Amino acid sequence: MNNLDFSLDAARRLDRDDPLAEWRAAFHIPPGPDGSDCLYFTGNSLGLQPRRVREMLQEELDDWARLGVQGHTEARRPWMPYHENFTELNARLVGAKPHEVVQMNSLTVNLHLMMVSFYRPTAERPAILIEKPAFPSDRHAAASQIRFHGFDPERDLIEIGPREGEANIRPDDLMALIEEEGHRIALVLLPGVQYYSGQVFDMAGIARAAQAKGAKVGFDLAHAAGNIPLQLHDWGVDFAAWCSYKYLNGGPGAIAGCFVHERHAEDESLPRFAGWWGHDKSSRFRMGPEFHPIAGAEGWQLSNPPILSMTPVLASLQIFDEVGMEALREKSLKLSDTLLAWLDERLAEEVEVITPRNEQERGCQLSLRLKQGDGRQVFEALEDNGVICDWRYPDVIRIAPVPLYNRFEDLYHFVGRLDKAIKG
Ligand SMILES: *Cc1c(COP(=O)(O)O)cnc(C)c1O
Repeated sequence: MNNLDFSLDAARRLDRDDPLAEWRAAFHIPPGPDGSDCLYFTGNSLGLQPRRVREMLQEELDDWARLGVQGHTEARRPWMPYHENFTELNARLVGAKPHEVVQMNSLTVNLHLMMVSFYRPTAERPAILIEKPAFPSDRHAAASQIRFHGFDPERDLIEIGPREGEANIRPDDLMALIEEEGHRIALVLLPGVQYYSGQVFDMAGIARAAQAKGAKVGFDLAHAAGNIPLQLHDWGVDFAAWCSYKYLNGGPGAIAGCFVHERHAEDESLPRFAGWWGHDKSSRFRMGPEFHPIAGAEGWQLSNPPILSMTPVLASLQIFDEVGMEALREKSLKLSDTLLAWLDERLAEEVEVITPRNEQERGCQLSLRLKQGDGRQVFEALEDNGVICDWRYPDVIRIAPVPLYNRFEDLYHFVGRLDKAIKG
């Protein structure tokens, strides 16, 4: 019997052979309607709570109670340099040098701060290239930046979408557009993984092509960080930003991450919106009027960070560091390969997977579309039956089996419940 046969035995065998299986116990799995663990497939939207978060938060509360303001220097994780706890963890997570990464703000805020520095439109070169349909916040951010500089999004926001009748952007179409329009593009702002389709973009190739045309390149890694291996430094991207509450399990609204390539680390001629936390650490508390940015990504910080919101992210990034993206990616592909095989075996007539099948072009998420019938009703039937997945208008159910806490057995039950939801 082949490992990919659709059976509970095969699923359990895969779980038994899974070197990461024990990590599931490090997370709180929400109960389904019958009280047993739900089938949780929305780690791409809000990752589950690592058990160690509670204890680490309690430590911060205790230090605050015990030390008051002295916690800035005397807490067991002193608050003043708290963001430095993230430096090495983030550097390894996204393939960066330590001074290229910082934990700060939230994702859309960071996109704006990065655009202040790296979107420098001129009359000849005013445009931003994004994908279509982009996540609304990214589109709003880009369009409002264009307007802020006195240009017109109708003309200067260039959007590339899939061809008529297709679900994914063809990489060749993207390259051709950069080649043709590159001379008037100031900034290429694309996702690492597209939130709707799950398509992974060739970030290295895009960065090379766009920079050869004189454009800056930034990536929104909301759906990529903690999902696929990244090498931001080597790929040469100018900046990147990501939230920490999706694959990274940092908790609702968690503090985000940001990358600035080292070629910009000491460029004080870049415009930036500054704050005291980005100022040189040795003179910060002399409270002088001059601004001298810390070299590197830390120099873009504004405020002293909210420790109680940083702690869950720290707890979670420690787990990513202990496991490593390589092992996570290996299991992630095994999970999605298995789900694809079982969907093909059981539901090929009913369900279309719109996510690219090529392993280089997908992460954890598979986006499913019903070939006929009412997808929304099927989604609701799944929900009633203990499956947490999500529905994205107009017609997609997104499923993200994640390697830290999903089991192969979850996939087996999912395919069975989907079958039942469709066929009744
Ligand atoms: C989740 C997500 C966001 C959310 O932005 P916040 O500022 O964290 O609210 C933005 N863009 C993309 C592509 C996302 O996937």
